[in-house]
Amino acid sequence: MSAEIGEKCAVVGLYDVGLAAARLAVPALWSLQHRGQESSGIVVSDGEMLRAHRGMGLVARVYEEKDIDALPGSIALGHNRYSTDGGSTVDHVQPVVREDMLVASAHNGNLPVTDALRDFLMEHDALISGSNDSEMMTDAIRYHMSRGASLEEAIIESFPLFTGAFSFLVMTKDKIAAVRDQFGIRPLSIGRINGGYMFASETCALNTLQAKHLRDVQPGELVIAGQDGLRSFEIATGKQKLDIFELVYFARPDSVLLGKRVNEVRRNFGFHLADEHSIKADVVIPIPDSAIPAAEGYSEKTGIPLRHGFAKNRYIHRTFIQPDQRLREMGVRLKLDIIPEVVAGKRVVIVDDSIVRATTARDLVSMLRGAGAIEVHFMVSSPPVKYPDFYGIDTPNQSKLAAAHMSIEEIRKSIGANSLHYLSYEGLIKATGLPEDVFCTSCFTGNYPIDIGVKREGIIFHV
Ligand code: AMP
Repeated sequence: MSAEIGEKCAVVGLYDVGLAAARLAVPALWSLQHRGQESSGIVVSDGEMLRAHRGMGLVARVYEEKDIDALPGSIALGHNRYSTDGGSTVDHVQPVVREDMLVASAHNGNLPVTDALRDFLMEHDALISGSNDSEMMTDAIRYHMSRGASLEEAIIESFPLFTGAFSFLVMTKDKIAAVRDQFGIRPLSIGRINGGYMFASETCALNTLQAKHLRDVQPGELVIAGQDGLRSFEIATGKQKLDIFELVYFARPDSVLLGKRVNEVRRNFGFHLADEHSIKADVVIPIPDSAIPAAEGYSEKTGIPLRHGFAKNRYIHRTFIQPDQRLREMGVRLKLDIIPEVVAGKRVVIVDDSIVRATTARDLVSMLRGAGAIEVHFMVSSPPVKYPDFYGIDTPNQSKLAAAHMSIEEIRKSIGANSLHYLSYEGLIKATGLPEDVFCTSCFTGNYPIDIGVKREGIIFHV
């Protein structure tokens, strides 16, 4: 958990699910709230026209009864946004729709290189100034459709211009298209529901609506849900490289990614962490929520009892935190409070899923010491984050990444822990039960599967 680095977005599509697609889209977006809390939007079609409702803040705040009543139709597209590129203003709330209401789109991911896309739009007089990557993708598709192309033709034509990571849903008044970049960096699943179809960033949203998980959209694949059911097109030769950070931090533990339950993979991280680093301690404390399964695994393997030493306020989100200096100083304390009786007089192992800038770790160690812990051993259930991300997590500045400019010993000192241990890269991969090459591991290795263009110049490799 962190207040300043960005999270990924969530997308949801519902096709032919009965008359109230918007009513189903709301709980689906709710279950994907962890992927984006800044804004939310739904666009529906009743077969005649598209209608949109979008707003800033959490799902629970954006949709009132009257808003949902005003969204008739059995096709819906939904999006939760956590800004990556493009700033956090109401102008960029998704789904993207333009005045003509020809198409609506919802994007999870980020295009680090947009030169060709921008040039194409400029050349055809179709560039709208101030557009971000998702909006330009939509405008390329609109351009082809305005010249008579079908939705699928327009996506196939535009696809080579989309250099980046995308799990992208596009709807017209009678179809939904789902398309994934050729490496499938961001997840996207397909479900069957009420005789119709559902697309969602994670399977937890399918479970919420009791949809049956059919399969995932494949890397480089376009799937159209329309009158003829599901149709599939291989647009590019796919090579699966899911962002491994989905397993480390982003996804919900009940979701299934690449056939693996996220919760079980995280427990395995904990088992491997225990094999690699055994410590004499009295209690294991997880940092909620994402590190709970890894802490359970660590505790189970080492026999050190697990207790919950931090209570999390689950209702605080970035949207509601004003950038006020006093609030900023409270830092992690806004989200987590310590339970002193669990840690006082004890040798404590705390488990978190990752260290990015190390501000959270520093605050946590100081809280533990303040509450009377006699030793604090910090375990991280992933390797050091050394490289910035350009595919949808907003950690673009390498100079802010602790492990890019400090040794592990220097980080240990700076957070004030008695010891600091990371899961090894080999341990991380082994714990997934999958081969290394099905993952994008750029934040740990600096291997970027998709061109990041001039951004490469600002990066120091082999740190
Ligand atoms: P930091 O304080 O910058 O070291 O961030 C590390 C904390 O943020 C850990 O508690 C992680 O669970 C969490 N975290 C890791 N990656 C992200 C991200 N991209 N967005 C938000 N929080 C994150």
